[in-house]
Amino acid sequence: MILRGRFHTGLDTVVLFSKGHTEDKLRIIFDMCDNDRNGVIDKGELSEMLRSLVEIARTNNSLNDDQVTELIDGMFQSAGLEHKDALSYDDFKLMMREYRGDLIAIGLDCKGAKQNFLDTSTNVARMTSFHIDAVLLPSDVLKVTFYHPPNFKYLSGQQIRLSCTGVKPEEFHSFTLTSAPHENFLSCHIKAQGPWTWKLRNYFDPSNFNPKEMDPKIQLDGPFGGGNQDWYKFEVAVMVGGGIGVTPYASILNDLVFGTSTNRYSGVACKKVYFLWMPVAPPL
Ligand SMILES: Cc1cc2nc3c(=O)[nH]c(=O)nc-3n(C[C@H](O)[C@H](O)[C@H](O)COP(=O)(O)OP(=O)(O)OC[C@H]3O[C@@H](n4cnc5c(N)ncnc54)[C@H](O)[C@@H]3O)c2cc1C
Repeated sequence: MILRGRFHTGLDTVVLFSKGHTEDKLRIIFDMCDNDRNGVIDKGELSEMLRSLVEIARTNNSLNDDQVTELIDGMFQSAGLEHKDALSYDDFKLMMREYRGDLIAIGLDCKGAKQNFLDTSTNVARMTSFHIDAVLLPSDVLKVTFYHPPNFKYLSGQQIRLSCTGVKPEEFHSFTLTSAPHENFLSCHIKAQGPWTWKLRNYFDPSNFNPKEMDPKIQLDGPFGGGNQDWYKFEVAVMVGGGIGVTPYASILNDLVFGTSTNRYSGVACKKVYFLWMPVAPPL
């Protein structure tokens, strides 16, 4: 009888996740997190939930202890709950509203879908990413590395549209991913050319940026574009990039070396690659 009851509770849970209202799903998630059933979720319980979500998403992007602590502290802070050590159900609802983007990024959408698709025919999704690392490079280029949401699948050479909460969060700009799909982070190389790209570079300039006080996040839409995947069909491939237009090849060449050296790709005809890069001359 007890087993039968549990079976039905389990079924109800599955049905609620596929059809139920957000409120019902939040209650279930809250109860699942509240391991000791004391009516509040402490930081340890929240940390367990985040870890299991990452596992469920079957990703190799595991979060280490510091990252989990940082993420949880950030979640408490963003919801204005930094003075608390545990969450009541109302606090939890508030936090989920604040952090829906990040929870999608680690594999859970409270509306029941795995991913917040903008276009299901192309798998284009909108996601939030965090743990941003930015390095200023020569020629006004900024390298931005950020967390790879496990549900975000892309091909080498594809682009995203990106915004940053620290710099006009409503404004999205196109950039090619310079990371390769097998890597557990995403990266873009962004050349400062106009108002937004200069603002981004100045924001992350170490003389202005204080990681302890500033906690920017990246919103990304994508992936877009075909990703120039034809290289593997031909014995000889010629890749030509000019200036910052070299970015797709950073990803493609990395993918090519990884894919062919690990026998990950079958049916690769490509035996030789000529790569030509024409760096733009600096102004006199
Ligand atoms: C598919 C795609 C991939 C891109 N990949 C990269 C990349 O990997 N790295 C990188 O540094 N830049 C890339 N860009 C260009 C980048 O999007 C622009 O430099 C950036 O949006 C400029 O914004 P801004 O406000 O700083 O300057 P703006 O004043 O808006 O523009 C500065 C210069 O960039 C040109 N520009 C602006 N927006 C676009 C656009 N959407 N398409 C084409 N040209 C534009 C303008 O005509 C102007 O010459 C890419 C653009 C596209 C369309």
